[in-house]
Amino acid sequence: MKKLVSVLGATGSVGASTLQIVRENPDKFQIIGITAHSNVALLAKLAIEFMPKFVVLSDLNLVSDIETRLAHLEIEILIGEEGLDFLASQKTDILVAAISGFAGFKPIFKAISVGTDIAIANKEALVAGGHLLMPLAKEKDVNILPIDSEHNAIYQCMMGHHWDDVEHITLTASGGPFLAMTREEMHDISPVKALKHPTWDMGAKISIDSATMMNKGLESIEAAWLFGIGREKVSAVIHPQSIIHGFVTFKDDTIISHMAPADMKVPISHALGWPERLKIQTEKLDLTQISSLEFMEINHEQFPCYNLAHQLIGEEPCYAAALNAANEIAVSLYLENKLAFGDIYSLCTKTVNMIEIRSLDDYQSVIDYDSFARGIARSIALLL
Ligand code: NAD
Ligand code: MG
Repeated sequence: MKKLVSVLGATGSVGASTLQIVRENPDKFQIIGITAHSNVALLAKLAIEFMPKFVVLSDLNLVSDIETRLAHLEIEILIGEEGLDFLASQKTDILVAAISGFAGFKPIFKAISVGTDIAIANKEALVAGGHLLMPLAKEKDVNILPIDSEHNAIYQCMMGHHWDDVEHITLTASGGPFLAMTREEMHDISPVKALKHPTWDMGAKISIDSATMMNKGLESIEAAWLFGIGREKVSAVIHPQSIIHGFVTFKDDTIISHMAPADMKVPISHALGWPERLKIQTEKLDLTQISSLEFMEINHEQFPCYNLAHQLIGEEPCYAAALNAANEIAVSLYLENKLAFGDIYSLCTKTVNMIEIRSLDDYQSVIDYDSFARGIARSIALLL
């Protein structure tokens, strides 16, 4: 039987890798729904190729364009946030959460609510609302399968092992494009340079997060929610070769690590195929061609965003939600050349220090708090 799959963020980098795996395994999957924010041309192309039941376009201004492109096809076109919610509320076997940013929180919440397993790439949803998503998944008996490569690595390292035996988990970081630079040298660096990641080919937001190393801080929070561990049990190290994606240290000092090519198809295929493995095409790792594997501590003076996020693990969830919101605002301002690279950290730390603490006990409170924190971040940005 084919697995029924919906792909949120189908036109992005993770979406593209997901659909490539589906192409390579046509007997295993049937695409039920695909979504995009505004890339109508690609969304229409994918719809014609995969013939899903539903297509969702978030940008309301482009509705007539997608309708024209898909006229006469038996595909239901849904629009805006409501459309996204509707698709997420259709029970499927697995929903690939590959929207970038907090925009993914609502549909993930909806999909878990109806009992759909989630292959999750969208770390921002876990950072802002992991305290609600993970208990809900438990209540609904939903599997949350990590796609983020480091988390998928840890998940794979833990297969057949017990969390009681774990002393520590380590996520690896390539170091991003500015590993050899000082903080002063990075301060005014252009988005063009920051978008050039040395080992991974990714969307704009996560590429900037990798350059500031906020990504590893967000990933530490993500790991804490996914695996139910405290702050002291998770950290990150720089590993420029991006061959080992994560490792687990057990109480007997055994270390189990996960190696794979730096290709998102590996973790995505693991989550899609789980509990089986799929045959996929990647550039295979030839370990005889690798002369060394290096591991270095993160320099906190050079990359302060990592610690800013990491220290929020275990704190009131509103702090991480505020940080996530501020970072999204900061990254988009930076990409529009309205904020210096070095001020991404300033904007985030000021927002976290200024926000009022609220308990985010339900779905709506997380959404409201995200808007509230964005407002604070925008007003701080005016003063920088
Ligand atoms: P991307 O920018 O390439 O694609 C984002 C997708 O989300 C697009 O399809 C876009 O149309 C959609 N989208 C964006 N904003 C939206 C909104 N407001 N409403 C609805 N749809 C929206 O991003 P990506 O690199 O594929 O990353 C997606 C997620 O996966 C992010 O959370 C990222 O952190 C995570 N992730 C990505 C990688 C990677 O290699 N790219 C690795 C690990 C984790
Ligand atoms: Mg990652």
